[in-house]
Amino acid sequence: KCERYGKKLIAVNPRNTSRICSKCGFNSGAKPLEIREWTCPICQVHHDRDINAAVNILHKAMPAL
Ligand SMILES: [Zn+2]
Repeated sequence: KCERYGKKLIAVNPRNTSRICSKCGFNSGAKPLEIREWTCPICQVHHDRDINAAVNILHKAMPAL
């Protein structure tokens, strides 16, 4: 189905994506699942856990495109 639209299905390992700052790449380490938001200690960007993870997955997929 992906091929029909000229797109590729890219498998991205979601490991660490909820820990890494999508702005500066800082890995802030493991966080309990109940932590929904956090602020990067390096660049002070405030992240929503899921949105930050999604951005990181996107970044990971980019080189394969
Ligand atoms: Zn950061």
